[in-house]
Amino acid sequence: MSIDFLALANPGVPGLHPYQPGKPVEELERELGISHSVKLASNENPLGPGPKAIAAIQKALPELARYPDANGFALKTALAGKLKVNTDQLILGNGSNELIDLLFHTFVGSQQEVVYSQYTFIVYALATQAHGAKAVEVPAVDCGHDLDAMAAAITPATRLVCITNPNNPTGTFLGKQEVKAFMERVPAHVLVVLDEAYTEYVGEDERLPSIDWLNEYPNLIVSRTFSKAYGLAGLRVGYMVCHPELVAVLNRVREPFNCNSLALAAAEAALNDDAYLAEAVALNNQGMAMYEAFFNERGLKYIPSRGNFITLDLQRDAGPVYQALLREGVIVRPIAGYGLPTCLRISIGLEAENQRCIEALKKVLD
Ligand SMILES: *Cc1c(COP(=O)(O)O)cnc(C)c1O
Repeated sequence: MSIDFLALANPGVPGLHPYQPGKPVEELERELGISHSVKLASNENPLGPGPKAIAAIQKALPELARYPDANGFALKTALAGKLKVNTDQLILGNGSNELIDLLFHTFVGSQQEVVYSQYTFIVYALATQAHGAKAVEVPAVDCGHDLDAMAAAITPATRLVCITNPNNPTGTFLGKQEVKAFMERVPAHVLVVLDEAYTEYVGEDERLPSIDWLNEYPNLIVSRTFSKAYGLAGLRVGYMVCHPELVAVLNRVREPFNCNSLALAAAEAALNDDAYLAEAVALNNQGMAMYEAFFNERGLKYIPSRGNFITLDLQRDAGPVYQALLREGVIVRPIAGYGLPTCLRISIGLEAENQRCIEALKKVLD
């Protein structure tokens, strides 16, 4: 007996395709029979987890038979102190991706519209489609968000607007005034998620005062993660900061034990590891300068980035270059799925990894 499972699925599901992650190192090495390849494809922190996080994980191991703290008291307390918010303004997730999904589960249905930019984090498009909502994709300007056009795209049916800043996969950045002026234009029935997964890489003077804005805009939701600058992508932990009543609604839908105990312990420790964070940011700045210098020297086109990655525009189909780089043992990220078929996104790695990538690019492009 054969069953058409797709026909049984919810209305948005037949239109979906699985998320395409960066190629794992093990997979490439298995396929090509090579070793010592480098992965610069998923915006991971090349330093590995920090020493304080590792120590906290080791300390938490004997308690693994117990369920984690469903309310994440210790991590929320640490975050509240750092961000100067109340613990009831925080919700923790299995990566910020889970919280994005939670926002959609809670607030977005087939009657609603979701506004997001062309060339932004693909998870917003996937979640919109999965919930059968109407996607309103606003054309980008200079590969970044056009906030004027996004504000103009809001209708009475709009429930959620998604802004990624710095943006992934382009690395573009919106300044304080622009985002503040946008928030002024958004009606109260529209929730705005400001995804700041890369905010730690932005200089403190330029970073948006997004947490301060929560007092003015109860419809604003700030999303952050421990997956990038804090180096804990494998543990899956992120958080959102927003109005306490909004948190209370989300908590009705949230799985009770969505953050595991190792993630909670490691994130709390990582939050206090200023030395590790500073090292990660400094390394990123150096690596970014290396790539920019190389691209400029070669006359290669790229999108100036404020994240921990840089997008190279080859101005021709990037697929063959991606494949050729794989054969050199260098994994970068093709972003044709984001509508950028001539581009490759390169995550900033350790100095030797960046050097390796640059050498491979020279070889492949000659
Ligand atoms: C990497 C990334 C995230 C983080 O996802 P996690 O689920 O927290 O690992 C969120 N938003 C954007 C734009 C990202 O690039």
